[in-house]
Amino acid sequence: METDCVFCQIVAGDLPSNVVAETDRVLAIVDIDPQAPTHVLVLPKEHHNDVGSVAAVDPKLLAEMIETGTGIAENECDGEFRLVFNTGRDAGQTVFHVHGHVLGGRSMQWPPG
Ligand code: 5GP
Ligand code: ZN
Repeated sequence: METDCVFCQIVAGDLPSNVVAETDRVLAIVDIDPQAPTHVLVLPKEHHNDVGSVAAVDPKLLAEMIETGTGIAENECDGEFRLVFNTGRDAGQTVFHVHGHVLGGRSMQWPPG
């Protein structure tokens, strides 16, 4: 756990969250500032900075995150969703504990801004 990481604090139960799904290694929570009818963050319970790091160190964990997000989208938005891993500040990453945004429930534009 990284004590100054907001998602580590959520995993530890030190900050509240709205949990949508949970496995031994993965937590899925509603985004505090939702950008779509479904906006869930899928994150590993252990701290990794970004998607490339978790892919390199523990690809099974990344697969479990994606499976969890896919299951949520099947439940909430007919399996039609966008899965976004912002990586780095210029790409919009603000929390440096890897998380996939599962966005769905409305039509979306491409390319993203
Ligand atoms: P990023 O900008 O790093 O790709 O995504 C971070 C996301 O985390 C943002 O969509 C933001 O709304 C969300 N977020 C930030 N702090 C919290 C929090 O304390 N609880 C929850 N549920 N979401 C948060
Ligand atoms: Zn963390």
